[in-house]
Amino acid sequence: MFEHSRRNLAHWFALSMGGILFAFAGVGYCLSVEEQLRVFDEELFSQSKALAAKTQYSLYQSQWKTQRSQTPIENGTSLNNGLIYARWYNSDKQLLQFIGSLGNSQLTAEPGFQTLELSLGAEYTIRTWVRQVTIPILEDKLLIGYFQAAVPMNSLRGSLNQARLFLAFGVPVTFGVIGLTGWFLGGLAMRPSLRAYQQLQRFTADASHELRTPIATMLSNAQVALMPPEDCVEQRLRLQNIVQTAKSMSTLINDLLFLSRHDGSLVESGLKPVDLREILRSLVQEFATQAPTQGLNFHAHLPEHPIMLRADANLLKQAVINLLTNAFKYTPADGEVQLHLFTQSYNAVIQVKDNGIGIPSHDLPYIFDRFYRVDTVRSRQTGGFGLGLAIAQQIVQRYGGQITVNSTLGQGSTFQINLPLKL
Ligand code: ADP
Repeated sequence: MFEHSRRNLAHWFALSMGGILFAFAGVGYCLSVEEQLRVFDEELFSQSKALAAKTQYSLYQSQWKTQRSQTPIENGTSLNNGLIYARWYNSDKQLLQFIGSLGNSQLTAEPGFQTLELSLGAEYTIRTWVRQVTIPILEDKLLIGYFQAAVPMNSLRGSLNQARLFLAFGVPVTFGVIGLTGWFLGGLAMRPSLRAYQQLQRFTADASHELRTPIATMLSNAQVALMPPEDCVEQRLRLQNIVQTAKSMSTLINDLLFLSRHDGSLVESGLKPVDLREILRSLVQEFATQAPTQGLNFHAHLPEHPIMLRADANLLKQAVINLLTNAFKYTPADGEVQLHLFTQSYNAVIQVKDNGIGIPSHDLPYIFDRFYRVDTVRSRQTGGFGLGLAIAQQIVQRYGGQITVNSTLGQGSTFQINLPLKL
């Protein structure tokens, strides 16, 4: 599926960029032809004007006014700068004189520039493309005749051929590079979706796996409970098991829903200025009541002054509850759990410290992953699914904060939340 999407992206990228490339190459080529032709024409025109001016006076004196035989001009004028012919016509468009190849006795071309294919050489066997200009000659604003000249277009055609050759190789090569870039960019663009998809797949597989065990437990208990009752106490035990398992499934489902519902970016409008000290104070009461029942010592160190930030109080509360619940779960009786709140370089810092069982160092990088449990046995005993820390991390990260852990196996753990203090 992802390969297909990647191919599609590369395909459309190559098509769109290729289209732009072809359009640019085409327009660029046309503009270059136009510009080269303009320069070429200017050169031809200035040469022709110079030659026409050079011969104008003598011709005016002797020939413009009279129809003369079509013989080459013999007043020392010669062709240079690559001109292949120069022709003089009178105002009735009759040929008067010429140098180079002979033209029609009657001028047929309109004033201006034309591109012609001519047969040149002694036997007219060499076919060549020429650019011809026809200029009207004026004397005191009166038309007295026409001058016509032409140059071969070999140099211009040569440079245009070169440009065409460059485009013929350059455009396909660039198109190939565009295709490869599209393929590479397609891969880059697909990477986040691929990662999200893989995460979702793993998450679904883990969630189904977690749900399978309690469902199997409930089923077997229910089947036994449905049998003719031999022992009422036993049957009651089975039903209690079912209730217990259903409760833990409900916790799991709530956690999963929480994770999926609060995945994504923050909705700014849902945030209000909250006093972190007040949020923690309400939790302290709850956990202080629970601590003696587990034989734990619980101490909270909250500051005198309020610590304000923009947040959703319930979400922040949930993150701290998860840390405190873990500290209570993984600290044996007579142990100690501490909650600290203070500020440190524009951050609000919440610390949950315990002197419980601790976490092995090789497990530390993974404990915030969904469904990761350090030791399945010890977590099962405490009823955990490995989602508490993932939820806490998700919440903290949504506020641009960080959650970190320091732990030594057998000595205890310190979880720290850093939240940027912005209002
Ligand atoms: P669970 O619901 O299993 O506790 P969590 O995501 O909250 O899942 O924690 C992940 C794992 O990290 C737990 O399985 C547990 O082994 C370990 N852990 C979390 N907090 C503590 C702690 N304070 N002391 C020791 N181990 C902890």
